[in-house]
Amino acid sequence: MAGSIHEGPEFGIGDFVLLQDVSMDAFMDNLKLRYEKNRIYTYIGEVVVSVNPYKTVDIYNKSYVDQYKGREIYERPPHIFALADATYKTMKRSSRDTCIVISGESGSGKTEASKIIMRYIAAVTNVGGQKEVERVKDVLIKSNNILEAFGNAKTNRNDNSSRFGKYMDINFDFKGDPVGGHVNNYLLEKSRVVHQQTGERNFHAFYQLIYGSNDQKLSECKLVRDPEQYHYTAQGGEPKCATINDRDDYKLVMSAMKTLGFPFNKVEALWRVVAAVLHLGNIQYEAVDDHDHAGIPDKSALATIAMLMSVDTEDLRKALCSRVIAAGGQVVEKFLTVKEAKVARDAFAKAIYDRAFTWIVGKVNEAIDPKASGMKLVGKNTVIGVLDIYGFEIFDNNSFEQFCINYCNEKLQQLFIQLVLKQEQEEYMKEGIEWVHVEYFNNKIICDLVEQSHKGILAILDEACLSVGKVTDEMFLTAMSQKLSKHDHFTCRSLNPSDKTLEHGVEFRIRHYAGDVKYSVEGFIEKNRDTLYQDFKRLLYNSKESLLKDMWPEGKQHITETTKRPVTAGTNFKNSIIALVDNMASKEPHYVRCIKPNEIKSPAAFNHERVKHQVMYLGLLENVRVRRAGFVYRATYSRFLQRYKLISSKTWPNFRGTDIDGVKTIIKEYNYESDVAYGRSKIFIRSPQTLFELEELRDKY
Ligand code: ATP
Ligand code: MG
Repeated sequence: MAGSIHEGPEFGIGDFVLLQDVSMDAFMDNLKLRYEKNRIYTYIGEVVVSVNPYKTVDIYNKSYVDQYKGREIYERPPHIFALADATYKTMKRSSRDTCIVISGESGSGKTEASKIIMRYIAAVTNVGGQKEVERVKDVLIKSNNILEAFGNAKTNRNDNSSRFGKYMDINFDFKGDPVGGHVNNYLLEKSRVVHQQTGERNFHAFYQLIYGSNDQKLSECKLVRDPEQYHYTAQGGEPKCATINDRDDYKLVMSAMKTLGFPFNKVEALWRVVAAVLHLGNIQYEAVDDHDHAGIPDKSALATIAMLMSVDTEDLRKALCSRVIAAGGQVVEKFLTVKEAKVARDAFAKAIYDRAFTWIVGKVNEAIDPKASGMKLVGKNTVIGVLDIYGFEIFDNNSFEQFCINYCNEKLQQLFIQLVLKQEQEEYMKEGIEWVHVEYFNNKIICDLVEQSHKGILAILDEACLSVGKVTDEMFLTAMSQKLSKHDHFTCRSLNPSDKTLEHGVEFRIRHYAGDVKYSVEGFIEKNRDTLYQDFKRLLYNSKESLLKDMWPEGKQHITETTKRPVTAGTNFKNSIIALVDNMASKEPHYVRCIKPNEIKSPAAFNHERVKHQVMYLGLLENVRVRRAGFVYRATYSRFLQRYKLISSKTWPNFRGTDIDGVKTIIKEYNYESDVAYGRSKIFIRSPQTLFELEELRDKY
């Protein structure tokens, strides 16, 4: 059956649902065989499993687009184009919002997958060649260059690692042509601005500015063409990355910003802000008195930063060395120690970059706003959402960031369970079809552990952050151990003294659906509070550069006004993830599960243990079991008959009976009875082969 999902035994099986036996070994053998034959995509029903090839595979050109365009998912060998097409078709045919959830660990190919999907959609739309639609497609695709420049970085896992979560809606008009979009970003890893591990880099934008800008711009920014001169870009030790050309990328970003209509003066100001951050990292402090109070000896460095940010030099110095507090109605200046000042400086640098990134996302959104496209939106407007978000992270040292990321993955798994597993079972019940119950682990209990009000980890953390007096991370751990002592998925040393792998008073463990993760509480309080001294906010609010001023509206507040406590970072993240999940639950989801074959970015190595681990925590085997226990395809009787009536002379050209009679006639004629079940309103087909054969028969007629 050339051209179908069965390409012949030498390529393995195109759909894991068709495996002889559903075991980890069988799954792994098939995945490996296919990977070795450059078959990087395999289905589990309609879910696409993708293994990063780490090389250019020539399967995305126009001839491939043509092969998948408008076809049904089982008609051609597994490909991400088929999923993109299915998503697009569902949206167009049923006028429903759809979304594609792409998950997998760092370096598994999520971002590439999302771009391949976007390019496919761009390739199959606008058959009429409307100029405005072409512009929209161009703008949507180029927005990636900008977001990646400021939100991606080289890590030890991936040279182009997304350090933020991204959800992008693409809007379509009633004809199915893209008319715009919207991006939501989640939790940028801003700690990277001030610290990078050996071998890693800061966000690409810093190197693009240093290597890519012309001499004049560089000297205006008072920079030299060497990242190793700046503390914030020197720590990793390898500022040049073999797979990245920062100079070319700078040009791409500048051109993309132009295409997206970023005002030129704002772009210039933005690069000055990036430069200012680099200079901030080089600010040195020294003690100016016996109390170790901080002073800045290098006045010219201060002047440079003040110039780049259009603020007063003396105000900048004050903000970097002291803070003003209102106590008992009086305003007093409190001097910072050298250590405190360094922390404050880093917090300042992180906050500036974080806000700049948010500003960029806002600008991208203005540019891709469907209303801005100037096209008249007639009829129903539908969207395809694409979610490219950080996968599960288990490092040697896991902190608040991993905690948030893993919580996000629990929520996505929960959504997957609800939509795919539960919905599937419920539908069989509704249709009166016999269902073999499949045991699966429902991770709701872990979501609750993190997010429940009053007793969840985030609530306990917020409570600790709000209490008066000095609160330590250790106190937070104690509070958790008291409140969560009975929880099956939480433990720490005081609850389990025999567990020597956990350090007393420092670590706790969560049993995630994907495996156990040990977190260190160090820094949780600080990172959750995420405070920045009001002095910095006021400083930037008073900047003469409107770009900065607009980013810091709260700097307007006078020192004596009591401030409402800002929402903590954890709660903020939780709220945004809950909103994300709600949004996706309202759409029809499709899934891409990405797998990273090895740790060395090699096109030829299949690391069995590492891959197996991912198969396990992506829940792929469970997914296969559910699909197999059930049916791979279903359609209402009328839709099925409509599609296949022509393959039987008994139903075509004339048929007078009911839809269900017609369907039964066809199934009987071709001997498929053992492979189908008749529900109340739908026919269910067990195996993809049957479906495929039906499609082939249909093609013949
Ligand atoms: P992160 O979570 O760190 O952002 P990711 O899952 O988004 O990781 P990508 O950036 O998409 O990973 O992929 C990492 C690298 O792997 C790419 O830069 C590219 O070199 C390679 N790669 C991924 N997918 C493909 C593909 N389909 N074809 C060729 N190379 C690929
Ligand atoms: Mg990515």
